[in-house]
Amino acid sequence: MTTTPAPTPTERVLTGDRPTGPLHLGHYFGTLQNRVRLQNQGVEMFVLVADYQVITDRDVADRLAEHTENLVLDYLAAGLDPERTTIFAHSAVPALNQLMLPFLSLVSVAELSRNPTVKDEIAHSRQSGVSGLMFTYPVHQAADLLSCKATLVPVGQDQVPHLEVARTVARRFNERYPHADGTGVFPAPQPLLSEAPMLLGTDGGKMSKSRGNAISLGATEDETARLIRGAKTDADRRITYDPATRPEVSSLVLLTALCQERDPETVAEELGDGGAAALKRTTTEAVNEHLRPLRTRRAELAADRTHLRQVLRDGAQRAGAVAEATLAEVREVMGAVI
Ligand code: ATP
Ligand code: MG
Repeated sequence: MTTTPAPTPTERVLTGDRPTGPLHLGHYFGTLQNRVRLQNQGVEMFVLVADYQVITDRDVADRLAEHTENLVLDYLAAGLDPERTTIFAHSAVPALNQLMLPFLSLVSVAELSRNPTVKDEIAHSRQSGVSGLMFTYPVHQAADLLSCKATLVPVGQDQVPHLEVARTVARRFNERYPHADGTGVFPAPQPLLSEAPMLLGTDGGKMSKSRGNAISLGATEDETARLIRGAKTDADRRITYDPATRPEVSSLVLLTALCQERDPETVAEELGDGGAAALKRTTTEAVNEHLRPLRTRRAELAADRTHLRQVLRDGAQRAGAVAEATLAEVREVMGAVI
């Protein structure tokens, strides 16, 4: 696993999500908790609604406005504070997208074809062919990250290969276009992984908004119970925590442990020979208990959709100014005349 650098207030963080559906427990334990923690430590934070990236794997961005507002709702309910964290949609920041042009020149087609996350996303794509946007997804993500010179990126495991591309782009850009004093324009962003870098969904695959296997943060307690009851497990009555050989059972054990802030080994030991039904009951209670305050806040915030839109407008202004400054620097080192 990638080493996790200790965050300091000098770090700049950018991370984000595609507005393809409501945020789920994988987001929460994979990245959202870390974002809130970093924000509360005073780290400068940018959170991106990656709207253009919705059309990497489908023809049209379905219910885009609704999904975008709901993402903001989930962020605020989880504790992101728009006064301290810049929340914006990347389509609203033209300078960010313009960075993609020079960046595309820095990576080869062969490198992009080898990217394991792009391969996995293509495998789950709703399109029969692979679009240019899907193929260049990691370069667009490099533009997201480097537009604000992010140094730290709280993400799930699936994003680590994408981040490697961003690091390569930063390194090559610095080598090819140094400042007059030899320094580089961009830092190399580091991934920050959590204790749950890949929470599994109810079907045993990566929990994903688009794969019908997710437990969303805004789900009701009954819905949560129903979804967990239907989760894939195995026939062994003894509950153990062994992610390598028993991924599905272990993911439920881990989920319980994270909600209860305990070790997964202790949770498994206590369940002993209780079997999958007892495990699922325990997990359901733990999730519902843990999310209760978040869900209450979410319901309160949901009443004011105008506020959610305003958060995005303010965020686009702040992120726009930062991306403009970066683009100006890029043009200068590349020798643009005006
Ligand atoms: P989609 O199915 O539309 O791709 P998704 O559920 O994969 O949705 P993304 O918007 O692609 O969500 O990912 C947003 C962030 O959440 C990324 O940093 C990603 O690594 C993280 N993440 C997504 N799913 C999980 C998961 N199951 N466990 C841990 N982190 C996750
Ligand atoms: Mg995804």
